[in-house]
Amino acid sequence: MMESLNGKMCGCGKLHTFTSKVVVGQGVISKLPQIVKDFNVKKAFVIADKNTYKVAGETVCRLLENNSFIINSHVYRADSLEPDEANVGLAIMNFNTDSDIIIGVGSGVINDIGKIVASVSNKPYIIVATAPSMDGYASATSSMTCDGLKKSLPSKCADVIIGDTDILCDAPLKMLSSGVGDMLAKYVSICEWRISNIINGEYYCEEIAELVRKSLKKCIDNADGLLKRDKAAVASVFEGLVVCGAAMKYAGVSRPASGVEHYLSHIWDMRAVEFGTPCELHGIQCALGTAIALKIYEKVLTFTPDKAFAIAKAEQFDYEKWSDELRRFLGKGAESMIAIEEKEGKYNLNSHKKRFEIIIGKWDKITQY
Ligand SMILES: [Zn+2]
Ligand SMILES: [Zn+2]
Repeated sequence: MMESLNGKMCGCGKLHTFTSKVVVGQGVISKLPQIVKDFNVKKAFVIADKNTYKVAGETVCRLLENNSFIINSHVYRADSLEPDEANVGLAIMNFNTDSDIIIGVGSGVINDIGKIVASVSNKPYIIVATAPSMDGYASATSSMTCDGLKKSLPSKCADVIIGDTDILCDAPLKMLSSGVGDMLAKYVSICEWRISNIINGEYYCEEIAELVRKSLKKCIDNADGLLKRDKAAVASVFEGLVVCGAAMKYAGVSRPASGVEHYLSHIWDMRAVEFGTPCELHGIQCALGTAIALKIYEKVLTFTPDKAFAIAKAEQFDYEKWSDELRRFLGKGAESMIAIEEKEGKYNLNSHKKRFEIIIGKWDKITQY
């Protein structure tokens, strides 16, 4: 059973809410007709790609047709699917405007597109998951490529998330690994969230952090079973990923589920779009990013903070040179990154000095994490 903070007026000062209904278990796809009926709708628009159609889309359409629903669908034929303007356009062009519910059948990209179509058309949205590969099932944003740039666009959270373990267990091993990778990232993200709370006074909720930690532990405890496609192990990864999506919703920020390892993954994605450099599934990049982050933090633990040295380094920092290097390394995507960093005053010498005072004062507390 998934743990939840839904409806809790929390000690952190927030009322935590998460309205998506999550249905996980063996054979739960058979509940789809009743779930759709509960929305009091007649016509469904189903989005899938050629692989997800085979593994679950066909069943979804048959189940709905057998229950007198009218189906309109779009099945992507491309071998690899980009979440970009053209593919959102294809979905919209095949969407009958009298459809009254959207059903995505797939994982990352299909879900990102489905959430956009549901948000634009203002219709309820159900995702039938085909792989526990990333934590976007429960998020209200879509990771899209717009005008050649990777962007996180506001879309909508699925009203219902269906994870049938019979289907999820058959997902390609690489997608199962990706899901664990996206979970492993949470070791870093939770730690960084706490550190940012100490240094910057950023909002932090221990209950949300604990919820994510518990889900992560369950995944790690079951990790061996995953290679054998054990149903309990696959369910724990899927539930963990959904909990992490809910955690972001509870917190109102992505901190509980995304830290520097996601930043690295984001950079690799941007370089892949701009320069055609190699990239991997989101969660696999996150796992790699986690390994790099852990190495960095291991090194940080050996440091003794030295104020004079740090201030001297900060004074030598050449902002223009750094921005040019960023432009060279990232291409077009650098501009939005520079703009965000400028807005946050990340390289402002005075705020750097202030931050450094706090870091020195609280070094023992910081390194405890
Ligand atoms: Zn809270
Ligand atoms: Zn992620």
